[in-house]
Amino acid sequence: MAIDDLPPLREVIARHGLSARKALGQNFLLDLNLTAKIARAAGDLGNRDVLEVGPGPGGLTRGLLAEGARKVLAVEKDPRCLPALEEIAAAYPGRLEVVEGDALRIDPAAHLDRPYAVAANLPYNVGTELLVRWLTPASWPPDWSSLTLMFQREVAERIVAAPGSKTYGRLAVLSQWRTDARIVMSLPPGAFTPPPKVSSAVVHLTALPAPRFPADPKVLERVVAAAFNQRRKMLRAALKGLHPDIETMLAEAGLEPTERAEQVPLEKFCALARAFAARR
Ligand code: SAM
Repeated sequence: MAIDDLPPLREVIARHGLSARKALGQNFLLDLNLTAKIARAAGDLGNRDVLEVGPGPGGLTRGLLAEGARKVLAVEKDPRCLPALEEIAAAYPGRLEVVEGDALRIDPAAHLDRPYAVAANLPYNVGTELLVRWLTPASWPPDWSSLTLMFQREVAERIVAAPGSKTYGRLAVLSQWRTDARIVMSLPPGAFTPPPKVSSAVVHLTALPAPRFPADPKVLERVVAAAFNQRRKMLRAALKGLHPDIETMLAEAGLEPTERAEQVPLEKFCALARAFAARR
């Protein structure tokens, strides 16, 4: 069954001349059943505003609207996509606002009721940068309730990684400290037009009302960045630049100086950040 009365995406792309541009990371999703499935992975949108970054020709936008999002704010950098998006806006009166611009520079707070959901199939470099920004707002809870984001499979695995795994690092700690993060869908390259070189996955992150363990966000970020910057080194060596008495702080956090960052669970990184904050 069609999710809406709008034309198929291939026709939209042909009519508006939306040949994919590599520089903008354009790998489009043309299967509306798939975009509806991603929209459903965003959870119940019935009473929610949604920020969509990089709508392109609007496949996911249509999924979000068909799934009942109250309002979608779609931020797109490529002006060629705007006429196609305006056709969707006309089919869903009052529910789609399209903004032309760079998502890294736009503040959605003026356009949406909070907390809003975020959904995006983004170029991978922009996606990681936006994820880190969404995870490190000035205060918590953030303006958003959940993030449903397409990533390169390898990045998705870094977000949900557990201690002890090779992919466990800064992204896992930042994500898991204040959200529940799960991979909810895997997509082969052939799901996209044109197909990218690697597989992709959708990650769903739900904001927790409060962090899992207390810590000052800036201090935690510093400690974690330093620890994983030299992930093969023992903590004693990796962190020695942070404080002359790092061994005492490691002991306070219940950590051995010979452990490596890869093995340290979130709880102990938070304990270390607290020990560090107490002595600054
Ligand atoms: N969401 C569409 C889909 O699933 O078919 C398009 C996905 S495509 C991977 C990424 C989209 O993000 C493109 O339309 C591209 O023009 C847009 N884009 C790239 N960089 C952007 C930025 N900094 N801000 C907003 N949109 C951006």
